[in-house]
Amino acid sequence: MISRIDLRGAALPEGSALRDLLPRAEFDVEAALEKVRPICEGVRHHGAAAVIDYGEKFDGVRVASLRVPAEEFTRALDELDPAVRAALEESIRRARMVHRDQRRTTHTTQVVPGGTVTEKWIPVERVGLYVPGGRSVYPSSVVMNVVPAQEAGVEGIAVSSPPQKEFGGLPHPTILAACALLGVDEVYAAGGAQAVAMFAYGTEDAGSTAGDEPGCAPVNLVTGPGNIYVAAAKRLLKGRIGIDAEAGPTEIAILADSTADPVHVAADLISQAEHDPMAASVLVTDSEELAEATEAELKTQVAASKHVDDRIVPALAGRQSAIVLVNGLADGLKVVDAYGAEHLEIQTADAAAVADRVRNAGAIFVGPWAPVSLGDYCAGSNHVLPTGGCACHSSGLSVQSFLRGVHIVDYTRDALADVAHHVVTLAEAEDLPAHGAAIKARFGWKVPESK
Ligand code: NAD
Repeated sequence: MISRIDLRGAALPEGSALRDLLPRAEFDVEAALEKVRPICEGVRHHGAAAVIDYGEKFDGVRVASLRVPAEEFTRALDELDPAVRAALEESIRRARMVHRDQRRTTHTTQVVPGGTVTEKWIPVERVGLYVPGGRSVYPSSVVMNVVPAQEAGVEGIAVSSPPQKEFGGLPHPTILAACALLGVDEVYAAGGAQAVAMFAYGTEDAGSTAGDEPGCAPVNLVTGPGNIYVAAAKRLLKGRIGIDAEAGPTEIAILADSTADPVHVAADLISQAEHDPMAASVLVTDSEELAEATEAELKTQVAASKHVDDRIVPALAGRQSAIVLVNGLADGLKVVDAYGAEHLEIQTADAAAVADRVRNAGAIFVGPWAPVSLGDYCAGSNHVLPTGGCACHSSGLSVQSFLRGVHIVDYTRDALADVAHHVVTLAEAEDLPAHGAAIKARFGWKVPESK
């Protein structure tokens, strides 16, 4: 069911040599670039008609219009299961609390008397938020995308999610209901690379036969998780649009010792494996007993699960998943840092202190009562997180993802005069005399004496 990697024999190697020993999904975004290039070019040249054609090809349904009509939001909310509505509202409430606290304030630094630099945070004007809807539908990803964008103060928010055949080509009704709860009414029925291209290039109209509905205006930034085609399109169109970190197939790593409960460990490994056959579930432990108990528990729990043959078994049995045995907690920490998991659970004695020593992870879940599923829905934290080891250089989605920091430089004549000789010296050192001249021109073409 799940392979073992035994690293107890010798001293652990460092850096990339250690990474090479660890399991990792084959997620070849470079190869997918060639597949999505014609899709993006098609949308660039043929607009909404191409988005609709690709939807028919990949999602098996031809939509009448890309834009979801207003009445569908009301219907989705009216027909929403009250328990799901209450859960979504609680998820939104908690996410809002956490993301509101992430807001940045304008800060002014008095560099010298008469010389200030102010850092002002300005929201991106218009964003395109991708909500996956291939194998599973993710209303939770509506919350995780929209809440930070709203808390950042973004004015133009558009959402796109794949058209669903069983709902006549609309995105899933729970996704529409989540949008309605968040007050977002610009939603498109488009998935995969064609949705990202639609956001990047915009479309003149919505592609309806009547031809009178407005299209999708181009956005400045696209965020949100998705499959390899979504990730490849984001990488291809980066530059024309800003993107968040690439968030691909989900990953869970659990660092556990003999105090961990194998029932919890197995349940949490399965919980992420059920996303995708490419999902990665990794247990890092110094306890052979826990490894064995977890293997036994996996067998029992998998047999009682849904999505077994199409997702859970291929994910657990794939080369991206494993139980990694290490000599002790210090080695375990080296392994999880080298792996840089999207989600990292710490199920050890004194879990908070161990968590404090972790450097690379998208999000860290501390102790037995903070499973990843909590973070997927209702912890208040964001679930759009970097995968594939990108956690060593990127963060999950946050208010910061939707803001740009702008420096405002304000110097008086005296403050400039005081530093002018340094500016001119550095300009000359870089052989850029016109830079120096721009200073001298303000002081009768002389370098003012420093006080
Ligand atoms: P998706 O919406 O990302 O992809 C579906 C789209 O892929 C379809 O609309 C279709 O247009 C396109 N597509 C399918 N086959 C294609 C092909 N052969 N060529 C070109 N395009 C094609 O939904 P999904 O597939 O279920 O993937 C969602 C992913 O998002 C999963 O891997 C899941 O683990 C991940 N996820 C990650 C996070 C995170 O934060 N990292 C959160 C939620 C979901």
